[in-house]
Amino acid sequence: MRQLTCTAPGLLEWCDVASPELGDGAAALIRPLAVARCEIDPLLVGAGPTSPGGFAVGHEAVAEVVQTGPDVSAVTAGQRVFCSFQVSCGRCQPCRGGRTANCAQYPVLSDYGMQPLSGVEYGGMVSDLVRVPHADAMLAPVPAGTDPVRLASVGDNVSDGYRAVAPHLAERPGADVLVICHGSPSIALYAAQAAVALGAGTVTFESDSAEVLAVAESIGAAAVASTFERRLGRWPIVVDCGQRPAVLRHAIASTEPDGVLQSVSYYAAPPEIPLALGKLYTWGIKFHIGRANAAALLPDVVALIGSGRFRPDLVTSAVIDWDDAPKRFLDPAIKLVVARD
Ligand SMILES: [Zn+2]
Ligand SMILES: [Zn+2]
Repeated sequence: MRQLTCTAPGLLEWCDVASPELGDGAAALIRPLAVARCEIDPLLVGAGPTSPGGFAVGHEAVAEVVQTGPDVSAVTAGQRVFCSFQVSCGRCQPCRGGRTANCAQYPVLSDYGMQPLSGVEYGGMVSDLVRVPHADAMLAPVPAGTDPVRLASVGDNVSDGYRAVAPHLAERPGADVLVICHGSPSIALYAAQAAVALGAGTVTFESDSAEVLAVAESIGAAAVASTFERRLGRWPIVVDCGQRPAVLRHAIASTEPDGVLQSVSYYAAPPEIPLALGKLYTWGIKFHIGRANAAALLPDVVALIGSGRFRPDLVTSAVIDWDDAPKRFLDPAIKLVVARD
């Protein structure tokens, strides 16, 4: 079968690889129909493979179920589904507690399309067929009649944005939200959208990109151009999204006493990140940082989308043809989706 593969730094190619097989009663085989580019994909492809033969790319997909094992009950062949980008069993203690990102059965960072991080190749979503080892735990049905292209990112970045605000707004209904975007714009925009949908008092979106600010405005946030040097005020709920450590300091300064600062960012390397721990302590700011629990989030995210109040498709800025994936997957775009019939 054909698989989009990163074979060298910055290089994507179709590779012909063996089709996966069910191999287990709880597994399913799915055929991805629409795959969104995650914010991490260009970074992974830029860094290149860590083992010979390269690695499969892509992990945010809406797919069609092709085959299920005898123990699968939640989905059936022919059905359209969201797939968690993280591999999780649904049965271990972390999974039962909703902490599916750290499933005890798999090595850390066991995700589709990220073999360089976990060391294990689970396949990538820009492929003809993908094996889902725990179909009941990792797949969620797509509402009937919904265009897969609109929802391609639900299995990862959309859920990531949702979880950045949902638990905090549940604790403080109607609170004002500030999203600080200094990278990974789609996740920041999904967070702002989710905050609007979940009834935040106001949603302010701070960025230094005119293109991203225009989208923020269009989804109902108050867009503010910023160089992140001077705080605009202090908010009870602040979302930090990007890769610049100096802006994390700015996010701390923008959080009000006893407020919540939720970071969805992975800050690579420098241990000398100037994190204002004294300020976090003195002001009682609750600082959350960590990965989303994709499988556990799927039902809530799908329900909010089903209500019509959360429209992730409004963030999609480019849709490319499946066959063009090797040459166009890295095209400049806030959110790019690869689609086929
Ligand atoms: Zn991702
Ligand atoms: Zn598990």
